[in-house]
Amino acid sequence: MSQKFDVIVIGAGPGGYVAAIRAAQLGLKTACVEKWIDEKGAPVLGGTCLNVGCIPSKALLESTHQFHKTQHADVHGIATGEVSMDVPKMVARKDKIVKNLTGGIGGLFKANGVTTLQGMGKLLADKKVEVTAADGTATVYEADNVILASGSVPVNIPPAPLTEGLILDNAGALDIDETPKRLGVIGAGVIGLEMGSVWARLGTEVTVLEAMDEFLGAADKDVAKEAAKIFKKQKLDIKLGARCTGTEIIDGKEVLVKYTDSEGDKEIVVDKLIVAVGRKPQTNGLLSEDCGVKLDERGFIFVDEQCKTAAPGVYAIGDSVRGPMLAHKASEEGIMVADIIAGHKAQMNYDVIPSIIYTHPELAWVGKTEQELKADGVAIKVGKFPFAASGRAMAADDTDGFVKIIADEATDRILGVHMVGGIASELIAQAAIAMEFCSSAEDLQLTVFAHPTVSEAVHEAALAVDGHAIHIANRKKR
Ligand code: FAD
Ligand code: AMP
Repeated sequence: MSQKFDVIVIGAGPGGYVAAIRAAQLGLKTACVEKWIDEKGAPVLGGTCLNVGCIPSKALLESTHQFHKTQHADVHGIATGEVSMDVPKMVARKDKIVKNLTGGIGGLFKANGVTTLQGMGKLLADKKVEVTAADGTATVYEADNVILASGSVPVNIPPAPLTEGLILDNAGALDIDETPKRLGVIGAGVIGLEMGSVWARLGTEVTVLEAMDEFLGAADKDVAKEAAKIFKKQKLDIKLGARCTGTEIIDGKEVLVKYTDSEGDKEIVVDKLIVAVGRKPQTNGLLSEDCGVKLDERGFIFVDEQCKTAAPGVYAIGDSVRGPMLAHKASEEGIMVADIIAGHKAQMNYDVIPSIIYTHPELAWVGKTEQELKADGVAIKVGKFPFAASGRAMAADDTDGFVKIIADEATDRILGVHMVGGIASELIAQAAIAMEFCSSAEDLQLTVFAHPTVSEAVHEAALAVDGHAIHIANRKKR
């Protein structure tokens, strides 16, 4: 008799491990299958996010931001002398944070009674799951419910095949151990901009090649415009309409990158090249022919609004299904699915998922952009407040950017909030909470914000929706 669980989760990333913990908290006998192993053969929990994604990238961004601030400390009257960065120490600190967090998930699994099954999970017919361990032993388990949370892998492009130490994907990019003189990045998306920022702060000449003519096409135009201006000042050389067409390794130590733009064929030579052209769902070896789960036309596992697949009792969440490839989206889907399995009524609000790019200043938004709303024919009111007018931002010497709030002209309901700012990643939560509670701009106007805080910019932007911001001239004609 094979062992049976109420829930088997395949994949221990932020989708899978959160789903497993929630299911166990709800009293369900739960196992989580993970194929990733460390050098000792133990399962590596936390998926892309904790190991080679959100957390390590933020650790490097924080270290290099501190470096930059220290270099510019004279603005506060602090004399530092020459500031230097010990890159291996920075990378070791990042590794320690990753180890603490991934180890912590093992502890949470134990505390909640989640069984970890090491191996490659494959869904068979009738909700059976075959787990093939690293030594090749295969065991079949049964489950009443299966949650597929297999995540995503980087897209590789034929013109830039990964080459040890020279042409890197996001995992390799997080382990560069000395400051390159010249860095190329293919793709001006979230990962490309974050990784480009890390090294630009340490003095690397960074060139970003972006195939699209428009910078940050999914962002609100005001955010994209402000960000482009600031990145230019930071010496991130972002070439738009520049498609990488080929690479050559020179003497085993440099990369010649060929690209075409509107002027024709061009090339640059760099010491390292990071390929950051996006990610694709990971479903190789995950599904047997007769398991009943279907993929969509782009290779994502096909699910409905509640993450149900075509096979009854089988759910899929996170990067392997439609929607933004974000850790918090994966985790919230995990919670929704565990709740549904436990018999609760659960629904996720896909309209209020914040997006953040952790450059400095940070770019953050939630809800619809001005251009989307205009295209939908929605009559809107817009309020904008610059951090340059915030006393607290001035005290922090962090005045780049703004908060922009878009409300419905007729109902005053907040439809989108877009920010560029030093701590926009934290401020955007205020906007998400407001939108989740269906707030109007007036609700924010009537809320008391502490003074002096950077958050006051959210209050002032809400006031500006009606031309009533106090600390900028914004009177609307009546
Ligand atoms: P994953 O995290 O990819 O986890 C899937 C897990 O399943 C993996 O551990 C994998 O080994 C395992 N697995 C797959 N198939 C099988 C199988 N058949 N059997 C057993 N195990 C299997 N998102 C944010 O929200 N904020 C950020 O700041 C952010 N920064 C990022 C920075 C970088 C450099 C990258 C690459 C990504 C970043 N992301 C960020 C995206 C985020 O990492 C993903 O959205 C998130 O990890 C998706 O979670 P997931 O659980 O769906 O999949
Ligand atoms: P994201 O999906 O946010 O990580 O962004 C990836 C970016 O890479 C997108 O903006 C793509 O337009 C860009 N991109 C994809 N292929 C190429 C290429 N061959 N050359 C340059 N940019 C590319």
